[in-house]
Amino acid sequence: MSNHTENVAIIGGGIAGMALALCLHSLSVPCTVYEMRKTEAGSRTAGGGMMVGGNALAILDKWGVYEKMVPKGYQFNCVYLKGPDEKTTECYPFGGKDLFGYDGLRIYRQEYLDSLYEVCQAKGVTIEFGAKFTRVVEETESGVTFELADGTTRTASMLVGADGIHSKVREYACPGVKTKFMGIMAVTSEVVTEKLRIPAEKDYRFPLQIVTDFGMVAMAPQTPDGSQMLIGTQFPTEDRSREDWERLFADKEGLKKILQKDLDKWPDTIKSGIENIKVEAMHVWPFQMLPPLPSWTSLPHRRVAVLGDAAHAVPPTSGQGASMGIEDVYVLGLLIFEQKKHPEIGWQDTLAFWQQMRQERMGEIMELTRLLNNKRLPSVQQADLKKEDIWQDESATNPRQMAWLYAPKFEERVGTWVKAQVEKPSS
Ligand SMILES: Cc1cc2nc3c(=O)[nH]c(=O)nc-3n(C[C@H](O)[C@H](O)[C@H](O)COP(=O)(O)OP(=O)(O)OC[C@H]3O[C@@H](n4cnc5c(N)ncnc54)[C@H](O)[C@@H]3O)c2cc1C
Repeated sequence: MSNHTENVAIIGGGIAGMALALCLHSLSVPCTVYEMRKTEAGSRTAGGGMMVGGNALAILDKWGVYEKMVPKGYQFNCVYLKGPDEKTTECYPFGGKDLFGYDGLRIYRQEYLDSLYEVCQAKGVTIEFGAKFTRVVEETESGVTFELADGTTRTASMLVGADGIHSKVREYACPGVKTKFMGIMAVTSEVVTEKLRIPAEKDYRFPLQIVTDFGMVAMAPQTPDGSQMLIGTQFPTEDRSREDWERLFADKEGLKKILQKDLDKWPDTIKSGIENIKVEAMHVWPFQMLPPLPSWTSLPHRRVAVLGDAAHAVPPTSGQGASMGIEDVYVLGLLIFEQKKHPEIGWQDTLAFWQQMRQERMGEIMELTRLLNNKRLPSVQQADLKKEDIWQDESATNPRQMAWLYAPKFEERVGTWVKAQVEKPSS
C-alpha cells in the first residue's frame, strides 16, 4: 500500500468525520468511519442548537446535505445586536442569500448530524458504530495499523482523526498539545417563544444578542417555525475537573438557578424568557480552545492527520466551530482532486500546504472571535477598549464586509498553488 488515498479510516462520526466521508465518497476514495457511540440516533435536543454559516452551507450543498438540513432549521441572515436600552444597534451577518449565496441556518446539532448520516447512508458509506479508537500500533511509509477498544486492529493507507476537542488521534499525530480553559462557561436553555413578553415598540427581532451594563444574553429560534427559542448567557468561572463539569451538567435544577440568578436585573423581555426556561433543556458549556498545532499530520510519513475540533477547537463566540471542520474537509478534498490529476505534486507538500492554508483561516477566525468577545462585554468595559478591538457593523458603507468569511475563494487559492507546483522546475 503506498497511495495515501487507497483506503482511509476516519475516527469520529461527528460533523467533521461524516463530512469527510461524504467528500471522499465524491472523490471515489474508499473510506470507513469508526464512531464510538453505539448508534447514530440521539435525542433531538440533547446537543442544543447551532448556527451554521453561509460558508459551510455552500459546501454542504455540493454534497447534497443542505437540502436535508433546510426544512429542519430556521433560516436567518443576521444576529441583531441590542444595547442596554434595548435599541437594535447593529446586525452581525451570518450569511446572506443576495450577497453570498446562502443565508445562515439554526438547527439542532442532532438534526444536523441526522442530515449527514442520511446522505452518507444513501451513498453506502461504511460506518462502524461502537468502534472506539484507542491507539496507533504502527505507522510506516505505506500505511497505518490502529487498535480499537475491543482489541482488534485495522489497517488503512491513511488515518484521519475527526474525534473532537479531546482527540485521541491528536495525542499520536501531535503529542503534548493540551486544551486550554478560557475561564468562561455558557449556560443555555430553551423557552416556548409564545411565553416571551415582547413590547411592540422595542423592535425585537431574532436571533439577537443583548448586552447591558450587567451582562449578555443571546436568544435564537431553534425550530423552523421559530416556536422554540434558545436562551443563554455566559459567566466567568473557575475550571473544574471533568467529573465536576459532568456533575454540573447533570444538575439541571442547579443550572436553572444559575441562569435565574439576578433575574430582575434583565430587561423584561429577557426576564420573561429566563422565567420560563425548560429545566430539561438546561446545558452548560465550558469554553475551551486548542493552541495552534505545530503539525496537523504525523511526521515524517504524514499517514495520520487530524481535522475539525481535533485540530483547532475555538471558543463558540463566532458560531464557526463546526463550519471550520466543514471547510477543512472541503479544502482537503480540493487538494486530493488536484493531487490525483498531478501526481508529481507530492503528498508531503500537499498536506503541508493544506495545514498552512487552514491555519491561516483559523488565525482569521480567532481574530474575529476576539473582536466578538469584546462586543459581548458589559457596556462599561467596552468603553475602556479601542474601537478597533471591538467588532463593528460596517454594512451601511461596506455590504461585503464579511465576504472574506462567507464567500472564501478556496478554489482560487488552491488553483494558484497547484499551478505554481506544476510549473516549478524539477530539482
Ligand atoms: C456552547 C457551544 C456552542 C457552539 N455553537 C456552535 C455553532 O453555533 N456553530 C458551529 O459551527 N459550531 C458551534 N460549536 C462548535 C461545534 O460544536 C464544534 O466545532 C463541532 O461539534 C466539532 O465537530 P467535530 O466533528 O470536529 O467534533 P465532535 O462534534 O466533537 O465529534 C467528534 C466525534 O468523534 C467521536 N469520538 C471521539 N473519540 C473517539 C474515539 N476514540 N473513537 C471513535 N470515535 C470517537 C465522538 O463520539 C463524536 O461523535 C459550539 C460549541 C459549543 C461548546
